[in-house]
Amino acid sequence: MDQSLNSIIRPDTAAAAPRGGRDAAMASDRDFEQALRPLSFGDFAGQRTVVDNLRVFVEAAKYRGEPLDHTLLHGPPGLGKTTLSNIIANELGVGFKLTSGPVLDKPGDLAGILTSLEPRDVLFIDEIHRLSPVVEEYLYSAMEDYRIDIMIDRGPSARSIQIDLNPFTLVGATTRSGLLTAPLRARFGINMHLEYYDAATLQGIVVRSADILRQPIEETAAAEIARRSRGTPRIANALLRRVRDFAQVRGNGRIDLDIARYALEALDIDRHGLDLIDRKILLAIIDKFKGGPVGITTIATAIGEDAGTVEEVYEPFLIKEGFIKRTPRGREVTDLAYDHLGRPAPTPSRDGGEQSLLDFR
Ligand code: ADP
Repeated sequence: MDQSLNSIIRPDTAAAAPRGGRDAAMASDRDFEQALRPLSFGDFAGQRTVVDNLRVFVEAAKYRGEPLDHTLLHGPPGLGKTTLSNIIANELGVGFKLTSGPVLDKPGDLAGILTSLEPRDVLFIDEIHRLSPVVEEYLYSAMEDYRIDIMIDRGPSARSIQIDLNPFTLVGATTRSGLLTAPLRARFGINMHLEYYDAATLQGIVVRSADILRQPIEETAAAEIARRSRGTPRIANALLRRVRDFAQVRGNGRIDLDIARYALEALDIDRHGLDLIDRKILLAIIDKFKGGPVGITTIATAIGEDAGTVEEVYEPFLIKEGFIKRTPRGREVTDLAYDHLGRPAPTPSRDGGEQSLLDFR
């Protein structure tokens, strides 16, 4: 999530953002991401099943003149949850309001947003697993009956008043769907998981972004950036921006394979797309915990990172790429990790299994 909180973006104004003058306006990361954000299903690359199904649900809701069912989008950060929810609003032709779980700490905050929604608007709540329990309670009746009960006054004169809301669609995004409570999860009619992108799709995204930035790029260079982007469009776009810096300062302004490789090496992104922290995680498991098994909190403490970040951001990719495996006793590195980091893999000893169990305790 990177737009200003609680902003309303009407579809007509969002879609009308001029393409020509974008380059000059990209001073900050936020502007940059905003400028590259696809605005329609047609522009959104990859995630075919999710997009095809959403197109049907959006079309059907429009046909019936009803709000779209509440929708839950889950998956690792940077895969397009915010972008998709914005697109849903655009395609429905309704307004879009954006907030996030940790920001809504009082029921009054939520009530303020809910009462300002126009009929069939989309309310996007990022990090919905981080809603406080009281705010979540309020959300139940809002989602189910488009109504909220608000307590006014205190003590003997305390009473609750009921406020009717315009029918709306809640789009919730989470990187940790396992942390959602069962009652909240049950209130979403549509539940979709976003997957990491394959290199070919990411290559297309890099080329499209370079085109918007009016940055000449060779296909081989776009492929190299895509391959090292951890399956994540946000990272692909960020790397493109950094490589562009190198091309402009150290090269001739054009991004070719050589300058892309040079820049990615300088940024410490290796040929598998692993960055410094990924490698720190793998090395900690190998050097400090004999390759595992070891718990996520212990790994995080060993490298001085937050356990939630390691679990949400780093671990899923390391597991997907086959560097780490999850076992009932904790995380273990695989032979691929030893190989990639140039460390000798331990030879299995006769009592190896039992040994590691004792170590773990
Ligand atoms: P999330 O909400 O899942 O963290 P975002 O929706 O903020 O991710 O996406 C991060 C960036 O990646 C956005 O700026 C957007 O431009 C880009 N992006 C994400 N998905 C796609 C896609 N399918 N096609 C093109 N660009 C994408």
